[in-house]
Amino acid sequence: MTHPALGFLTLPLAGTAARHNASAGERGGSPRLFDETSHAALTAIPDPSAQRGAKKKSQRQRRAKMAVAIAILAFFAHPAQPVHAASNRERPPHGSVAGAPPQYTRFTRAELTRGFMALAFGSDLRIGARPRGIRRFEHPIRARVYAGGSVDRVAEMQAVVEDYARAVPALNLSLAQGAQQADIDIRLIDEKDFRSALEEAFGAKVTREFVARTDPQCMTSVKSTADGDIVRSVSFIIVDKGDQVFFDCAYHELLHAFGLSNHDQRNPFTTLNQGRMVGYLTVYDRSLLRLLYDRRVTPGMSPVQVRALLPQVIKDLGLATSAR
Ligand SMILES: [Zn+2]
Repeated sequence: MTHPALGFLTLPLAGTAARHNASAGERGGSPRLFDETSHAALTAIPDPSAQRGAKKKSQRQRRAKMAVAIAILAFFAHPAQPVHAASNRERPPHGSVAGAPPQYTRFTRAELTRGFMALAFGSDLRIGARPRGIRRFEHPIRARVYAGGSVDRVAEMQAVVEDYARAVPALNLSLAQGAQQADIDIRLIDEKDFRSALEEAFGAKVTREFVARTDPQCMTSVKSTADGDIVRSVSFIIVDKGDQVFFDCAYHELLHAFGLSNHDQRNPFTTLNQGRMVGYLTVYDRSLLRLLYDRRVTPGMSPVQVRALLPQVIKDLGLATSAR
């Protein structure tokens, strides 16, 4: 699938930003997600369909998923697209939403490496410090789903979390119980409320400029330390635009929340290609998460360090069907 060239935009944020305090239930104040110690700049990928203004809404929605990395960002890579050798397309997993595409299940080392390098570094939008390297959680991850919107999808969203937990044990992922503090907040909302949710998180000015350029629908913000440890992720998931949009957003945004912050519109295997709607956890994305959460790939690790490590990790985990 071909895609228009992507551009960047940089939106300077005036002054300092408030600390992150947008945790569960903090409705009384004006919660924000910015690191108060950072000077801020946003780097975003404009939504091509929004720019043209002539695409159908469904197409716009497909492209509108967005990741936000707060405080830290690595670079955004546009590696050349090799001829891919992935094979064995299989039907989507049992229980996937109707219309979900088939998936590739066998990958070469090069295909896994290229995807990991493109998706684990960088993001659509950043606020704060210069890029450092790998970002991921360094402790067991607890996720909490907050009900919202006109369609009750709490159980479905919790099932998505449990799907990730089962498929990638190294995430050490579970649903937060009772009063437990969550590391990933998943907020379910109607599309009409998305903009106000962004404004609550990022302020009106930034939201206005950003929405004008990217027309985002679902989104995730990731706050991490300078060392690359993710402190908290917050995902906003649209519930009222049908099953395909919901499950596509749910699986896509959680990948961001775990630390795969970027997109790659030229990668035909990943849910993080904004030109695709997937709606389930693919073998490819599961493989990238297993790499990210391997004990040898650590927060803050540079692209050079990671690239040197990946062949051995891919081999040890048995992820590639070819050493090419
Ligand atoms: Zn995204």
